[in-house]
Amino acid sequence: MNAPFVPPVCAEPPVKRGQREVFCGLTSIVWLHRKIQDAFFLVVGSRTCAHLIQSAAGVMIFAEPRFATAILEERDLAGLADIDEELDRAASRLLERRQDIKLLFLVASCPSEVIKIDLVRAAARLDKRLGANVRVLSYSGSGVETTFTQGEDSCLAALVPELPAEPASAAPSLLVVGALADVVEDQFARLFAELGLADVRFLPMRRAGAMPAVGPNTFVLLAQPFLAETARVLETRGAKRLDAPFPLGGEGTTLWLKAAADAFGVSSRRFEDVTAPGRARAETAVARHAPKLAGKRIFFFPDSQLEIPLARFLSRELGAQPIEVAQPYIHRGLLAEELALLPEGLRLSEGPDVETQLDRCRAERPDLTVCGLGLANPLEAEGLTTKWSIELLFTPIQGYEQAGDLAELFARPLVRRSRLEV
Ligand code: SF4
Repeated sequence: MNAPFVPPVCAEPPVKRGQREVFCGLTSIVWLHRKIQDAFFLVVGSRTCAHLIQSAAGVMIFAEPRFATAILEERDLAGLADIDEELDRAASRLLERRQDIKLLFLVASCPSEVIKIDLVRAAARLDKRLGANVRVLSYSGSGVETTFTQGEDSCLAALVPELPAEPASAAPSLLVVGALADVVEDQFARLFAELGLADVRFLPMRRAGAMPAVGPNTFVLLAQPFLAETARVLETRGAKRLDAPFPLGGEGTTLWLKAAADAFGVSSRRFEDVTAPGRARAETAVARHAPKLAGKRIFFFPDSQLEIPLARFLSRELGAQPIEVAQPYIHRGLLAEELALLPEGLRLSEGPDVETQLDRCRAERPDLTVCGLGLANPLEAEGLTTKWSIELLFTPIQGYEQAGDLAELFARPLVRRSRLEV
């Protein structure tokens, strides 16, 4: 068997590491609050934090909000004792008014006045006081500790100790980990059922009262590549993580499903029968966009942590040419199967310095630059075509039925640019 190709991180020429421009983990509240339908996210932060989540979630202004910010002003250490009382009052008022809330997350942020507060203790105190009807947990979405997708990792990792233990005699079960749009989750649930997997659960769960059990008979299949801490704590509960690429594009979805099928002893024949129609639909849908993307040079700034799986999809299914692929962090354990599928010759970098990376991007003049919101407008003004990576988290992109939409997300900016140039 050939050893898989593993491209070097920070390949020649050496890539300087340094400051990045990435939203903080609070941003993930925007998709997490849609997923866990009876949870509430109370950010303990500053006006900046309140502005960030309000503007990121601005489209949901008409919905009954399930997130808010408890704004703390600067105060000295003597004032810290009052904070506990203020927090208790704010949480109690909220829960009296909103009896639909069954899971309250206190979310830490990075202003100095918040760092002084022990939110873990505050959550434990509130949890005890508020009784059995509502669970109170805490995690950090601070920009010092988390990039915007790592906010989901912190949230899910905080849930793991709360998951019930699977009985020792339980039959093997599958736990799919990572927030997926409900429609995608339903599609995967159907495919797993057709493959004959009887017990498949999802984390995050849709309701606080439906926490999936976990134990030594649980196989964990990550649906998102940025869940290193969640995977680690699940392993401490005895679960076994399955190595697989991520379900982006037809090929990624097939290999992801195959990892689960192999763990459960599904025959090749059955796997083929169940997945063939979805594979064919994905192939047809992706092929429609291949003429627009084939041969196009693509440059990734570090942002969503999805960059490596996306580069794999764009190169192998659409014939695009990723020239630089950067992630805030590269977890080689979780990404081993993805790295093995990357084409040779690209520059892979971890946490590159934004200024020097901008210089490389300007020098390369890629056909498409995938980056955060803050970089997109200036680069567009310089005549480069960009794709906001945050959109990939707000759009259902996983699975066979979404493979065409995923390709289109990258084709659309190129089409728009070509129209503007006519
Ligand atoms: S947590 Fe930090 S980085 Fe995030 S919005 Fe608040 S102040 Fe800004």
